[in-house]
Amino acid sequence: MTEPLRIGILGASGRMGRALIEASFRTPSLDLKAAVERAGSAALGTDAGALVGAPACGVAVTDSLSTVLPDIAVVIDFTSPASTLAALEHCMASGRGIVIGTTGFSVEQKDRIQEAARIIPVCMAANYSIGVNVCLHLLEIAAQSLARGYDVEIVETHHRHKVDAPSGTALAMGEAVAKALGRDLRSHAVYGREGLTGPRDPNTIGFATVRGGDVVGDHTVMFLGEGERVEISHRATNRANFANGALRAAAWLSGRAPGLYSMRDVLELHA
Ligand code: NAD
Repeated sequence: MTEPLRIGILGASGRMGRALIEASFRTPSLDLKAAVERAGSAALGTDAGALVGAPACGVAVTDSLSTVLPDIAVVIDFTSPASTLAALEHCMASGRGIVIGTTGFSVEQKDRIQEAARIIPVCMAANYSIGVNVCLHLLEIAAQSLARGYDVEIVETHHRHKVDAPSGTALAMGEAVAKALGRDLRSHAVYGREGLTGPRDPNTIGFATVRGGDVVGDHTVMFLGEGERVEISHRATNRANFANGALRAAAWLSGRAPGLYSMRDVLELHA
């Protein structure tokens, strides 16, 4: 029988960290060996199981990644850009692979991640949802087949606390469609309409945003033609979808050659 993959979670007491701990407990092929938090975190010393209301698992939250790295095969990081960069140095020094879920890196920080990927395997994705990544792939296929005679509109809905619009995922969907159609999203996107707008320019890609309640994240891309409409939709109901995708990425990354990989590689969506 193959040994379970030994993983460590960085940002263990955060929203994603907890979702990852819960998801790892549901995945027998993974063995949670380390839970790391920032120095000063109230979670230090707590058993990782207790963080998610599960029985104790014998892994106490620590602030020292370097101490626990020998026990881990792959690190999963959902923290902040500065802490991801610090963790990268430790992973490079010990030859460990890393799944990066953290977002918001500067260009310089992304360059450093590229450099690290020459030495260790790194998987990085702004959205680890398996469903969203499959949708992005389906959108490319749909856009190629529906390039003429179909108008593209993207509608997204999120909870009332979200402060940016459209969502990063809606923009990624727009990019996927624009790329497949050979258009530049920056010059073809229309963000909302009001007043006397005139007839629709067929080359545009429209975005509409709905905000309210506790919606985790709904996205629908419509291809509107004469007499028919194709819709590709994704609905997230909780953070488990990101956690499951990141754990799948960790399993895929284990034993890989150094390189910078994406969820597209993990899900083999290149065809
Ligand atoms: P959060 O604030 O709830 O959790 C972050 C955790 O990281 C906190 O508990 C914090 O104490 C911890 N942390 C900070 N510095 C640390 C360090 N040096 N070592 C260890 N732990 C440290 O945030 P969140 O909602 O869990 O999101 C975390 C990151 O993941 C954000 O960048 C977010 O945008 C990103 N995210 C990505 C995806 C995806 O699919 N790629 C999905 C959700 C969130």
